[in-house]
This record gives sequence, C-alpha cells and structure tokens, in this order.
Amino acid sequence: MSRSVLQPAWDYLRQNHESTLRSPLFPVLLSVSTYLLLILFYTMLDLLAPTWPIIRRYQIHPDHTVTWSSIGNTLALTTYNHLLYIFPAAVGQWLWRPPVPLPSEAPSLAAFLLGIVGCTVIFDFQYYLWHLLHHRVSWLYSTFHAIHHQYRQPFSLVTEYLSGWELFSVGFWTTVDPVLLQCHCLTGWAFMIFNVWVSTEDHCGYDFPWAMHRLVPFGLWGGVLRHDIHHLHPGTNFAPFFTHWDCLYYLFLLHSFCCYFFTQSHERFLTNSTE
Ligand SMILES: [Zn+2]
Ligand SMILES: [Zn+2]
Repeated sequence: MSRSVLQPAWDYLRQNHESTLRSPLFPVLLSVSTYLLLILFYTMLDLLAPTWPIIRRYQIHPDHTVTWSSIGNTLALTTYNHLLYIFPAAVGQWLWRPPVPLPSEAPSLAAFLLGIVGCTVIFDFQYYLWHLLHHRVSWLYSTFHAIHHQYRQPFSLVTEYLSGWELFSVGFWTTVDPVLLQCHCLTGWAFMIFNVWVSTEDHCGYDFPWAMHRLVPFGLWGGVLRHDIHHLHPGTNFAPFFTHWDCLYYLFLLHSFCCYFFTQSHERFLTNSTE
C-alpha cells in the first residue's frame, strides 16, 4: 500500500504531541483557539478599517463602523457561553471520556479531503433544517435564534453571538459528523478548524479575494455575501455554506405559488363559464 503524503506530518504529531492529541480536551481547545485567532484578526481589521482605505474597500458595508460597544457586548456573551456551556462540557469530556486512540496510519490525502467535504455537506444540511425551523416557528425564533439577529450588519464576533441551545447544536454536529462518516481523527480535527473558519468568514463583513464563495466554482458556495443578506433579510438564505438547499427551497416556493395561481385562475374560469 502506498504511503500517504500526510504520513510524515502525522508521525511528527504522534511522536511529539501524543498526550495532547489523545486528551478529550484537545478538540475543544482546537476550535476555541482557532475562533480566538480569527476574531482577533478580523476585529483588528474592523478597528483599523475607518482609517485604512485599503481595508475599507473590502468591507461589505463600508458605511458601517464596528463600535467598541458592539465588540464588548458580543465578547461578553461569547465569554458567558464559554464559561457556562463550553468549559463544563470540556471538563465533562475530560473526566468521563477515555483518551482517544491514535492510529499509526495517516489518512490518504483523498480520504482526508473527501472527509472534510462530506462533513461540511452534512453539517450544512443539519444546520439548514435547524435554521429554517427556527425561523418558521415564532416561539423557537424568539426563544433561541433572535439573539443572533440582533446585528443586521454582522462582524466576526457575531459568529458565536448565539443562544446556548444554538451553540450546543452546532458543537454537537461538528463533533458527531466525523464519527458518523468514520473519519480519521486528523480529518475530524481539520473539519473542526475548517468549520470555525468558514462560519467566521460568513459573519466577518469582508468580501476578500480569498473568500470561499470566490474559490468554489459554479456558485455552489453562498458564504459571506449570502449570509450577510440573511442578516439584512432574515426570510432568505438559510443554508450556512452551500447554495443548493436554498435554491431547492426557492424552486419549491415558486412551484407552490404557480400551483396556487393556476388553481385560482382555473376556478375563476369555471365560475365565469357557468354564469
Ligand atoms: Zn449569522
Ligand atoms: Zn437566522
């Protein structure tokens, strides 16, 4: 069997960081530290943007300034959520989950990339259903999702400006999806980093040349522009990443409207012809 191109990197990680990688706390630390690095990067851009035109030109809403009060408000809820939900969940995992076994073989590059794509497609569908339901049922919206829509022009810290239930749902799917697809643990961790990256990009407020919707062909990826529209018009664009579920939903709405219109016209025609 040919050796995976990821094998040297995997061997290095196993030989030098085995106890860290095997710790049940590691996935939590990985996603929290990735998120902190990203919000630090984007928040610095937000603070520099008013005086640096080179940054402002990539902003989706160049007339909108991210204020210290918005930063403080979103940071306060993020800290609260981490202390109340993430930290206890991490300690629970640490106490009750046995150390993760590390396979000696690295995944092949194809399995690694397909695993990340597969997990992203499944996560996109799960969140799409959750999101649509929480917009359609007013009690669910006001109780769990309305807080995320407090900001009509999102910035990176809005990514985790969420209710505890939404944070739990997102964290649960991110953890479970690699297990469902029986991914290698390296693939699972890479998916976690990728998921935090694209979720933060959805809310960052910048349309950079390296944005995912510019890299993925055929308009398959909605990304930051579509999610920005969702915050402006909450009845549109429910999928977090891909575009296919929203396109199917709009086709379904169009079909329902056409059926209704033709039924009404037909009934009017029959009524007129019998008079
Ligand atoms: Zn959002
Ligand atoms: Zn929403």
